Amino acid sequence: MQDEHTPIMKQYLSFKDRHKDKLLLFRMGDFYELFYEDAKRAAKLLNITLTSRGKSKGEPIPMAGVPVHSLDNYLSKLISMGESVVICEQVGDPILSKGPVARRITRILTPGTVTDEALLPEREECLLVAVHSRGEEFGLASLDLGSGRVDLSIHQGMAAVIDELSRLQVSEIICCDVTHDTVRALSGQDYVLSTCPDWFFDEKSSCALVMKQYQVQNLAELDCEQHTYAVSALGALLQYLKRTQRADCPHLQVPEVHREEEHIVVDAISQRNLEIMHSLTGREKANLLSLLDSCATSMGGRLLRRWLLRPIRNHDVLRLRHGAVESLHQAGVDCLDKVHTILKGISDLERINTRVALGTARPGDLVRLRDSLRDLPTLKSRVGALDHPRLKALAGEIADLSAPFNELRRGLSIAPPAMLREGGVIANGYDEELDELRGQGQQASGFLRQMEERERADTGISGLKLGFNRVQGYYIEISKTQGEKHPLPGHYVRRQTLKTVERYVTPALREFETRILQANEQAMAREKELYGQLLSKLAVYSQALQATARSIAELDILRCFAECGSTLNWKTPEFSDEPGIVIRGGRHPVVEQLQEDSFIDNSLTINEQRRLLVITGPNMGGKSTYMRQTALIVILAHIGCPVPAESAVIGPVDRIFTRIGASDDLAGGRSTFMVEMNETANILHHAGPQSLILMDEIGRGTGTHDGLVLAWSIAQHLLQENRSMVLFATHFFELTKLPSVEDGAANVHMDLLEHGEEIIFLHRVSEGPASRSYGIQAAALAGLPVAVVEQAKERMAKLARGEGALWDLPLETIEVTPGNGAEPAEEK
Ligand code: ATP
Repeated sequence: MQDEHTPIMKQYLSFKDRHKDKLLLFRMGDFYELFYEDAKRAAKLLNITLTSRGKSKGEPIPMAGVPVHSLDNYLSKLISMGESVVICEQVGDPILSKGPVARRITRILTPGTVTDEALLPEREECLLVAVHSRGEEFGLASLDLGSGRVDLSIHQGMAAVIDELSRLQVSEIICCDVTHDTVRALSGQDYVLSTCPDWFFDEKSSCALVMKQYQVQNLAELDCEQHTYAVSALGALLQYLKRTQRADCPHLQVPEVHREEEHIVVDAISQRNLEIMHSLTGREKANLLSLLDSCATSMGGRLLRRWLLRPIRNHDVLRLRHGAVESLHQAGVDCLDKVHTILKGISDLERINTRVALGTARPGDLVRLRDSLRDLPTLKSRVGALDHPRLKALAGEIADLSAPFNELRRGLSIAPPAMLREGGVIANGYDEELDELRGQGQQASGFLRQMEERERADTGISGLKLGFNRVQGYYIEISKTQGEKHPLPGHYVRRQTLKTVERYVTPALREFETRILQANEQAMAREKELYGQLLSKLAVYSQALQATARSIAELDILRCFAECGSTLNWKTPEFSDEPGIVIRGGRHPVVEQLQEDSFIDNSLTINEQRRLLVITGPNMGGKSTYMRQTALIVILAHIGCPVPAESAVIGPVDRIFTRIGASDDLAGGRSTFMVEMNETANILHHAGPQSLILMDEIGRGTGTHDGLVLAWSIAQHLLQENRSMVLFATHFFELTKLPSVEDGAANVHMDLLEHGEEIIFLHRVSEGPASRSYGIQAAALAGLPVAVVEQAKERMAKLARGEGALWDLPLETIEVTPGNGAEPAEEK
């Protein structure tokens, strides 16, 4: 009976001791096994059988395992569930080992440090973020290890950090125990948190580590000398990588420092409300990213996400981008198609480059790299021929990678197997020594044929055959009946007896076997060596490859924007230094594409004299759509994309805020109204004259009068104090009086047509206030029971006549008529 002190369990425990917080997958033959609590946890998470192996203190040791060949599948499940996994491989030879075979930790996978192709979503970054703080100042360093992109940013206060993390959708956060407030605040947020020793974040050693990583003399060269906390966070990231990757990460890109004043800040709530990355209803395509992303490469897709996360404010850079998009558009469909075709053939150079740098690239990666590099010169010359400085610059950034291409063309087989260990990855003719060793292996089949002939002649057994299997090696096979008829030579040694045949070996066959196995082994070893050398040769081009990948990603996006311009009839916006937004014929980019009815375009003017638009009109009239399309047009303009409008002139914008919809946060202890007021408070505290604010029906979650006076006071504060650009949709008609008492406010409303009892939504915005709400009609359209609708109408009429309170109306006075698609009422 086994117990935990068997040598193999001792070996297991020695590894597990060092990785208590991760699942340890321990290679045993054809399986990776998990033991004790790990086994129970994995069995639950992966739905695999929980068994046991031997006993510890009289109790069976829980065990669960996954087959080696399906490891990737299970890993991706575990990682996506936020687990960290340690792989302990068998590295010794089971036959030669005395005691347990030697094992080694070969991989540590955490949700934020995966680089394997199978474990990464193609078009999303996998972000590992480190947070460091001193008082209210927070430094963030985030890394997408797959591409090597590094970002640094500074934030004031925990709320801003939480907002940033939620916008970025991070996979794993590392923080130290000193920032225990951070840990506590984040632990309520469903993040994968990995705490590290304090010294990981030490300012001095972090500085030194960062300078060493990027081989610079001081932080000014990286433009981050002002951001001590972000640099400490980056230092911690580098320490963490050392621990988990067990290899240097020379492919990390120079950190991009994000300063708030360079971007339009769209907080996490607004990002959600505006349905930029995801739709609020979960409908797959109903978001801006899905509409925009026709990128041919996954690098382009990922960069587009980054751009949408951080629209830029520099008008000069934006004009350059828009100009490049226009040039592509003017180059014509034929040119766009050709560029698209080349881009489609280009693989994920960023991620392949990372795997090359980490030494984990598989033969398939190299094939894709070779095939991608082949087309670069054509892309470069085609884009370079276009008449725009940004396009010429991008073409110029596509590096000359003919040397690594030629190396790959010479060194790699045309269609190598998926795994290096299968052999045949390195091309014939690339290395003399390998060719010779392979030659010896190939000579074997000729030699075997000759030997078979000779043995047949010597023994007189015509059915004698030479064979091979992995367990027995080479053998001579003779059927039992023939063997009995012919005396066998004395040097035939029986190796195996089967039902109808006997297998023999001879000294000559043994000698041949040794020679051939040695040659194969040597060929394999040589091939591994050459493969390693090939990776090292390619790694030299890491930076050139990264620059090329960046340029291709941007080209891909610009081409995709040009396509939006031509196929969706979007126009290039203009930027102005004057405050305000003027849009002619604006449309909602996503609603326009997804709804069957034709979309009605609308215009908008916000300027110094009309900073706050009070938007009234019927339910379903299109108020929310109108407000959201304005924000989306502003965002599109600031990523360099044409906009769904006949024209748009946009002044400086620093932030976009939204207060839309009703949702509670019961887990966070906040009711719907408290969420609404919290969000409003945040806006009132932070919005400035260049902020665009969408306020949709503020004050509806409380008593009518409380709501009304709150809405009025909030609007007034936005006008007088924040002086922001505000779209204020409301059903409180009292607010339409605001423009008559406050400078800077104006009324607009959504038009509709009344046709008898029917109402027709025109979705057209006109100047002035709406006359009424049409809430009862909209409710009837929604299928409210006719009895309820009729009662509501009656009560409304009574109220209008000033006849008593709502509850004075007896039910019996109401005549109920079924119809209108509503359920007939049960009672009269
Ligand atoms: P409520 O006051 O009930 O919230 P609303 O006035 O905010 O309503 P929206 O939610 O913006 O109305 O629009 C309702 C529907 O009307 C949208 O889902 C869309 O299908 C349609 N719609 C809105 N604007 C337009 C438009 N400009 N052209 C065509 N259809 C539109």
